[in-house]
Amino acid sequence: MRGNHIICSAYAETAGKSFRAVNPATGQELAGDFYKAEVLDVENALKGATLAYQSYKELHKDLRAGFLRNIADEIFALGDQLINRASAESGLPEARLRGELGRTTGQLRLFADQIAEGSWVDAIIDTAQPDRQPLPRPDIRRMLVPLGPVVVFGASNFPLAFSVAGGDTASALAAGCPVIVKAHPAHLGTSALVGAAIVKAIEKSGVPKGVFSLLFDDGYTVGEQLVKHPYTKAVTFTGSFKGGSALISLAQERAEPIPVFAEMGSINPVILLPQAIANKPEELAQQCAASIALGAGQFCTNPGLLIAVNSPGLEKFKATLADKIRETPSATMLSPGIYANYNSRSAVMLKWDGVDLVAESRQLNDQLQNQSVARLVEVSATDFLSNKELHEEVFGPHSILVIAENMTELEDVIHSVNGQLTISLMAAPGELENYSALLNDLTGKTGRLILNGMPTGVEVCSAMQHGGPYPSTNDSRFTSVGTTAIHRFVRPVAWQDWEDALLPDALKAKNPLGIYRMVDQKLTNHGQ
Ligand code: NAP
Repeated sequence: MRGNHIICSAYAETAGKSFRAVNPATGQELAGDFYKAEVLDVENALKGATLAYQSYKELHKDLRAGFLRNIADEIFALGDQLINRASAESGLPEARLRGELGRTTGQLRLFADQIAEGSWVDAIIDTAQPDRQPLPRPDIRRMLVPLGPVVVFGASNFPLAFSVAGGDTASALAAGCPVIVKAHPAHLGTSALVGAAIVKAIEKSGVPKGVFSLLFDDGYTVGEQLVKHPYTKAVTFTGSFKGGSALISLAQERAEPIPVFAEMGSINPVILLPQAIANKPEELAQQCAASIALGAGQFCTNPGLLIAVNSPGLEKFKATLADKIRETPSATMLSPGIYANYNSRSAVMLKWDGVDLVAESRQLNDQLQNQSVARLVEVSATDFLSNKELHEEVFGPHSILVIAENMTELEDVIHSVNGQLTISLMAAPGELENYSALLNDLTGKTGRLILNGMPTGVEVCSAMQHGGPYPSTNDSRFTSVGTTAIHRFVRPVAWQDWEDALLPDALKAKNPLGIYRMVDQKLTNHGQ
C-alpha cells in the first residue's frame, strides 16, 4: 500500500508533510505514511482530467461499462487486505464491511449495466417538418452529455460504498466524467488500496489515465483548491452541514459557479400512529432500537426522531425501547472527531428545558476508545416545537421521542421539521385512511416515504431516491444512491439541423446503439 497521491493514475513523487491513519478503537497509529498534496498536484490532476475528458466522454458505452466492471473486479480481488484495513481504520466490524464491499462492487456493476443498455442519455428527437405552416419546424435532437471533471469528497461513514470508488465516483465515471477524489482522513489506507485497484482497472481497460486521481490531506487546503479550480465542473460531498455549506459557498463564489451535490444530515422522523402502537408496542420498540443502534448510529438515515401520540400502548413501547437501548453494546465510532461531536451534541440536547433522558446504554466496553453510548431522550411536542435546537442531527445512536397530545400536535411537529432524507410511517392495516391530510404534506418534507419500515438500509436500485429537501441535501432534485445518481453529472445539449454523420451515435437516424429514444413523441428503439 502506497500513501503517495495518485495523479492521473500514476503515483506522484512526494515530499514534505506526512501523516498516518489512526485506529479509533485503540488510538494507535497504523502503518503507512500519507502525504499532503501540494498546489501543483491539484493542478496536474485537473489538467490531466480535463485532457482525458475529451476522449473519455466519446468512449463507446461498452468500453466504459467494461471499465466499471474491471474496477469492481479489482476491488473485490483486494479481499481480506481491504476488509482488515478498513476495519482497523473505521472501527466498523468485518461483517458490515463485507456487506459494504458487496454494495460497492454491486453498484459499479449496476452502473455498468445501465450505460451498456444506453437509454439513460435520454435522447429526444423532433424531426423536421419543412412544410409546417406558418413556419417550417427544424430537426432538433437532444441528449445528455457529461459535465467534465468531478471532485468527490469521500464520506467517513461508508469507507467503501461512499468513498474512493463509491456511488459518487461510480456514477460520475459512468456518466463520462473523470474523477478526482479527496480521500477522507479517517480511512487513508482504505482509500489508497481502492485507489490502486482503480489504477489497475484503468490499465486493464485502456481508458485515458487522467480519468482518476486521488489526493490526501489532513486539513481543508486541498479540498478548497479542488473546488475553486476552474477545471472542476461539479463536486459531491457527504458529511456535516458546516462542511457541505462551506463547499457550496466556495463553488458559488467562483467566476464560473458549479454544482455541489451535498448530503448534510437528516433526523429521519419515524411517525408511530396510535393504532400501530396499540397493536404491537413491543415489536415496534425492538425495530426502533435496532435501527437507532445500527452501525453505532452513524448512518445518514438513522432514526433520530420518533413521534407518537399519547395513547394506549405508548408506555409499553417506551419501556421496551428503553430496555433495548440499555442493552445496546457500545461500539467504536468512526473517528475521535465524530465521537467527540456525538458526546457534545448528545449532552447539549439534555440541557434543554423539557428534555429528559429515558435510557442510555449500560454496556460500555472500557477497554476500547471512542465508544458510543446509545441514548433515548423524551420531550413533549410543545417543547419540541418551541426549540429549533432539538431538530438538529445528533450523529450517532441517539434518538428523541416526541410525545404529542393529539394528532393535530403530531402534524404540527412534522410541519416544523427541516427537509429530510426519509420519513417513516408505522401504521396498522387501514389506519392511514384516517390521516389523508398528514399524508398529503409528507412529500414536501422528504425524498423517501417508508411504510412500516425503518429508514436505515438504503437499497441500491433504479427507483431509489436518496436526497431530500434542504438541508438534508442542497438539491432535492437529485439522488446520490441508485442509477439516477448519474443525472448529477450531465447536462442536456440540443443539435439543430445537424448532419447525421456528425451527430453523436445516440442521435443518428439509424439508431446504431439500439437505445430507446423519444422520436416525434413516441418511445422507440428502432431507427427512423
Ligand atoms: P465533515 O467534517 O463534514 O468532513 C467531510 C469531508 O469534507 C472531509 O474530507 C473534510 O476534510 C472535508 N471538509 C469538511 N469541511 C471542509 C471545508 N470547509 N473545506 C474543505 N474541506 C472540508 O464530516 P466527517 O469528518 O465525516 O464527520 C464530521 C461530522 O459530520 C459528524 O460528526 C456528523 O455530524 C457529520 N456527518 C454526517 C453524515 C451524514 O450522512 N449525515 C455523514 C458523515 C458525517 P477533513 O476531514 O480533512 O477536515
